[in-house]
Amino acid sequence: MVLGELGTRISNALRKLQNATIIDEEVLKECLGEVTKALLQSDVNVNYVKRLRDQVLLQVNVESDAAGTNKRKLIQRAVVGELQSMLESEKKPYQMKKGKINVVMFVGLQGSGKTTTCAKYAYNYLRKGWRVGLVCADTFRAGAFDQLKQNATRIKVPFYGSYTETDPVKIAQEGVEYFRSQNYDLIIVDTSGRHRQEAALFEEMEQVEAAINPDEVIFVMDSSIGQSCYDQALAFKKSVKVGSVIVTKLDGHAKGGGALSAVAATESPIIFIGTGEQFDDFEQFEAKSFIRRLLGLGDIDRLFSVVQEAIPKEKQPELMNKISQGKFSLRDMYEQFQTVLKMGSISQLMSMIPGMNSGLLEKGNEKEGIARIKRFMCMMDSMTDDELDGKSSMVPSRITRVARGSGTSVREVTLLLEEHKRFAKMVGKMGKMSLGKANDMQNF
Ligand code: GDP
Repeated sequence: MVLGELGTRISNALRKLQNATIIDEEVLKECLGEVTKALLQSDVNVNYVKRLRDQVLLQVNVESDAAGTNKRKLIQRAVVGELQSMLESEKKPYQMKKGKINVVMFVGLQGSGKTTTCAKYAYNYLRKGWRVGLVCADTFRAGAFDQLKQNATRIKVPFYGSYTETDPVKIAQEGVEYFRSQNYDLIIVDTSGRHRQEAALFEEMEQVEAAINPDEVIFVMDSSIGQSCYDQALAFKKSVKVGSVIVTKLDGHAKGGGALSAVAATESPIIFIGTGEQFDDFEQFEAKSFIRRLLGLGDIDRLFSVVQEAIPKEKQPELMNKISQGKFSLRDMYEQFQTVLKMGSISQLMSMIPGMNSGLLEKGNEKEGIARIKRFMCMMDSMTDDELDGKSSMVPSRITRVARGSGTSVREVTLLLEEHKRFAKMVGKMGKMSLGKANDMQNF
């Protein structure tokens, strides 16, 4: 079961509580039965599932709880909390420091997605304005350097490697030295993988680690093996100082839930997840945010921080002010569309909005979404300043004019205006949330 489906099944089970007239032992057990079945089908270890069930039953004593407590909310909160703790690791990952040289070494089995992930990771920091260099210390796999070079060229990141040198330790050392001497913020070292865990792989990793003394070692793991991730993660941890983990291929595999919970159980924090083959199919991982988005509950805090990251500093107070007052003109929508297009993944952003149900990991409609946004922007380009700023309204004759001016139709312009109304309403609700007022959207 892919993760999006797992999220839908759990949230459906929780939603059923809403329909039950009374919440008794039977209703609770039925709900938990559905949640546990979904988790087991996603290959989550049976012991973790049992623990979740027991913990929820312990927290929610439906018979003896005082009258008046909202049992539905209590159950929902307990389930969400337990799912979250299933994915949390007590250990904190290494904190990257801008203004310092951060050396990060990537390890993992061949085919896990390590080289692709190095590029995604580089791209993530590149977009934040970091100076990033890639070093290819994989001398085991023929073509590894070419692949890294190709990726690096696509994202416009300088790279270091060799077609002739066979000693990975030497390349790693030279590459790190080269980027160090130029004061790069982030130096990423891709190391060799093997098909299986074997002595030669671990020996080579240890030697490279000793030679470059990285600030962080990231273990890249393919989620398709589900709960077997546990043993693999432990084996790597025993050999090198794995500080954090990136779990890949969560877009298509049936065992994603099992993989994530197994890795978390090794007490290695998961920092990112890979959700596709493109460079921006990459999400920062934080258990609470992930669970909320998976269940379609949204994550307003994260939405604010992502939008804040993408919006120029000087514009932020103005936008936050507007949001808190629930004001949102067509021009604001235009600017937000520009930001969204710059940020890449629309499905990721949408999943942060409560009630949008998990667009998480579903990218099928991404291209269509982008084309639609661009068409909307084209229509707005044909509007006057007063119309964009909400100082004059869009009367039918103006709608026709804008449709003609933008080469679209009256129906499409009307749709745009409806979308704007919907957005403005949502922004109003977000404003209320950010002010900490009670709201019914975040009801778990
Ligand atoms: P390496 O041998 O560990 O360096 O693995 P590669 O980076 O060459 O990746 C192996 C394959 O997995 C390639 O076809 C990648 O495009 C693919 N891949 C990597 N990450 C992801 C992911 O998150 N989702 C999907 N669907 N494919 C991925």
